[in-house]
Amino acid sequence: MDLNPRPKQIALLGSTGSIGENSLDVIRRHPDRFRVRYLTAHRNVEKLAAWAKELKPKGVVVTDPAQFKTAENRLRGVFRVLTGMEGILEIVQDPEIDLVLNALVGDVGVLPTYRAIQAGKNVALANKETLVAAGQLIMKSAREKGVRIFPIDSEHSAIWQCLVGEERKNIRRIILTASGGPFRTWTADQLEHVTVEQALRHPNWKMGAKITIDSATLMNKGLEVIEAYWLYDVSPGQIEVVVHPQSIIHSMVEFVDGSVKAQLGVPDMRIPIQYALSYPERLPLTVETLSFDRIKSLSFEKPDFKKFPCLEIAFRALEQGGTAPAVMNAANEVAVSKFLGGEIGFLAIPALIEKTLEKHTVLKEYDLKILLEVQRWAKEFVQKI
Ligand code: MG
Repeated sequence: MDLNPRPKQIALLGSTGSIGENSLDVIRRHPDRFRVRYLTAHRNVEKLAAWAKELKPKGVVVTDPAQFKTAENRLRGVFRVLTGMEGILEIVQDPEIDLVLNALVGDVGVLPTYRAIQAGKNVALANKETLVAAGQLIMKSAREKGVRIFPIDSEHSAIWQCLVGEERKNIRRIILTASGGPFRTWTADQLEHVTVEQALRHPNWKMGAKITIDSATLMNKGLEVIEAYWLYDVSPGQIEVVVHPQSIIHSMVEFVDGSVKAQLGVPDMRIPIQYALSYPERLPLTVETLSFDRIKSLSFEKPDFKKFPCLEIAFRALEQGGTAPAVMNAANEVAVSKFLGGEIGFLAIPALIEKTLEKHTVLKEYDLKILLEVQRWAKEFVQKI
């Protein structure tokens, strides 16, 4: 191995979100190993400008058209300022980039991953929609291009770490852990009257609004089930979800001999982010360590599919295959934003997704163009209800 490798040149997509900020924290701790070459932001030009000044990337991208002018005024002359999706698609293909870290939120994250893979770049993936919506296309092109996808999600990182040194054919089950979200112990009646503020209060993880709501409905776990299916090449029946309120075990793998491996740690996203950046090495990281005498006990329970129908919807969409998961995901995205905007109640989220899936005729074979069309249809459909 090269003892003095050149720092990994990173394009960080979605730098101002929660994963973006945690990634920058990891990157700052290892300036000899990682170098940010591009930063992107949707509309938070203030933050983007501050980081650009500190980290001196080759360029920055702003994607919200309302912010183009501000970004140009503030940053032009100092950095290359690119705009929109075209800007993102350009930077992920830059020959100098070694790794694309995709922390975009929503299905806008699909195309950049796809283009990065096409350009032969490894991708550290935090954007869930990439595999949920386009798993078939993404995994196929990654295989063709000999490109690796390094998951950043804590659950998939846990499974990945459990599988180091193991053969895929020896997997019996993948057990994804779920915190259960803020409403784990609530009754169905109480769930009728959930407020946005209550849904945004996650017990263990500090995350962006979309994923926090997804955690409250358990759709987040549903999306993770679909991601695990694509990443680890198992059948849907081999993936199980167990509620584990302490979020200490991040997921487990059971092997054919009955042995189970688990990955544990404090709930801190910097751990899986750093592993995705440094793999196959482990680098030191000073975070809070697990204190078992303080934890005392770890508990587990079955997820309640009745109270949290999103999880069951996701399993069903995965079984259906084809375009079903993409439609489910697009419908969820709009339903969640309607909930956040106070337009619909908490329980209307799964109801709207169900309605959309009922109206959709699943296409087993599809390309990127069809996929984007299907997603657009689903979003418009939910928007109109
Ligand atoms: Mg997760």
